[in-house]
Amino acid sequence: MDFEVIKKNLENKGYKVSCFATKEEAAAYLNGQIDGMSVAIGGCMSAKEMGLSDLLRSHNDVVWHWEGGDRMDAIATDVYISSVNGIAKTGEIVNIDGTGNRLASTLFGHKKLYYLVGSNKIADDLEGAVWRARNVASPKNAMRFGVDTPCVASGGKQCFDCGSAQRICKALLILWERPNGIKDTEVVLVDEELGY
Ligand code: SF4
Repeated sequence: MDFEVIKKNLENKGYKVSCFATKEEAAAYLNGQIDGMSVAIGGCMSAKEMGLSDLLRSHNDVVWHWEGGDRMDAIATDVYISSVNGIAKTGEIVNIDGTGNRLASTLFGHKKLYYLVGSNKIADDLEGAVWRARNVASPKNAMRFGVDTPCVASGGKQCFDCGSAQRICKALLILWERPNGIKDTEVVLVDEELGY
């Protein structure tokens, strides 16, 4: 995929952008950048597929609630790592959350934020990115949680904007530009499918 347009648009919105052909190259880059720091990882299949926790843990203090870490300990680490549920070529970033810890940490409280973005997350425009977050990423996450919702009953095919007691989609965050809360934010684009 040609990242030229999305890279330029993200840079115009205040982000640093780095581009890689493979997740292994991206992981090696991050492993070199992040050293001797406290690092938290959000609920993030992309980080899992990149093996980031194992790489970083040997020379950083890593907090990940998927590996038994406390979400409260992840609030003010030096570095936060998140994926996106959708991103537009025009530069807007979209994430949906149930608990809210991931959304909160992408807005404030860290010195450096990295977004891990596989090529499967990229839509042409904001409308497409929101559609993807709601109808692709969220149903697949619901499948992973095994909740009792219509998207899971459909096999993860689409969102039904459900009123289920176990609905996982509680908040949707659209970043039109980089918020001022974390000035050093870097989008890591990877020309492979990563996460949902
Ligand atoms: S709103 Fe409900 S149906 Fe839609 S993705 Fe979330 S849990 Fe599934």
